[in-house]
Amino acid sequence: MKIIRLKTAVVEGNFDWTFVRIETDEAVTGLGECFFAPGLTAILRSLEPLLLGEDPRDIHRLFRKLQLATSGAGSVAGIIYNAISGIEAALWDVLGQWLDVPIYRLLGGKFRDKVRIYADCHGGEALESLDEVLRSRRASWDAMGPAHAARDYYGEAGEESASSPDEYCRRALEKRAEGFTALKFDLDVPSTLGSDPHNRVLSNRAIDHMVGLIGAVRDAVGKDTDIAVDCHWRYNASDAVKVARALEPFRLLWLEDPVPPNNTAALKDVSSKVRVPIATGENLYLFEGFEEIIAQHALSVVTPDLQKVGGLSVAQSIAQFADVHTMPVAPHNISSPVGTLAAAHFCAAIPNFLALEFHASEVPFWNDLVEGLPKPIIQNGFISVPEKPGLGVKLNEEVARRYARKGEPFFQ
Ligand code: MG
Repeated sequence: MKIIRLKTAVVEGNFDWTFVRIETDEAVTGLGECFFAPGLTAILRSLEPLLLGEDPRDIHRLFRKLQLATSGAGSVAGIIYNAISGIEAALWDVLGQWLDVPIYRLLGGKFRDKVRIYADCHGGEALESLDEVLRSRRASWDAMGPAHAARDYYGEAGEESASSPDEYCRRALEKRAEGFTALKFDLDVPSTLGSDPHNRVLSNRAIDHMVGLIGAVRDAVGKDTDIAVDCHWRYNASDAVKVARALEPFRLLWLEDPVPPNNTAALKDVSSKVRVPIATGENLYLFEGFEEIIAQHALSVVTPDLQKVGGLSVAQSIAQFADVHTMPVAPHNISSPVGTLAAAHFCAAIPNFLALEFHASEVPFWNDLVEGLPKPIIQNGFISVPEKPGLGVKLNEEVARRYARKGEPFFQ
């Protein structure tokens, strides 16, 4: 069996869902998804010559080949691995179809038949669509929506109205009614950002507002619904400690990315001073990215992104190491059903799985993008692990084409 082509397509969801298709000389094709990045499809096309003529079933050897070929160009981490993650997942899809078994079987079998999904509730309001450098845009599927000026996600707070406890509660109860048993909310919303967006400092007023938001959610959903919160690495360690201590009474599932994730000392500083589990991982690459923070217990919940970290095998090695250190894994996920189901196979196959993120409640065609599974894909807050060969679904090209990003090749 030989790889004869690599093709890409980008669908404009709430992020740029970037697909890679591996075609073989045996009429088996594999599908993978990559975490968005500037120039990503150009990177994927640059990697194609390294794969042509290769046997797609030699997944680990091809991963090593891509890794060695790109390392000399300085790509020892970073967005080259967004590309490699999608390629690696597509290779697992090929192998599964060729052997007529689902991917989870290839990963060693499953610990569970259903994967628990947590609903990302953002800052209470519906999420905007964001481009590859996190500028808000009017989504192609929201042509009737209000016009708005593009805004930098990490820029200064604009005219947005303050997030209110009522909005957070409404959102929590909506998701609870859909069957989700775990929710995540942003703490770094316009009303809690400091007056200076650059200095990582929080005021007491901002911290009090965070307590008001999350306290209201806890009151609304009761103690049996898990609540996680996210800070997107915005704050300094001592202010993050203040936030975590103020939120301790709400018995959070975790507090995510209080400080920059690659600063082990800052992370450990926060973790050691608070009684809230600290989560991080969505910005880290490869096993090496996680090794030190796990070994030093600078975190409590490990959150790799399967479309970015380097692929399913890399994620398995991280999960295994986390398990040795008694840490659960809760993968970050902003992908279409393609990436989400690849992640579901992984989540089924590791012992220390906690919950998998779902970030696309607002995208009306999320379920329609794939065929081969009962819909909706998420039922009562769980995904049933696909039993069909490989990934277990095919892309619905008609739907994908309708929402394809303009100017990007569509599997050409
Ligand atoms: Mg996050």
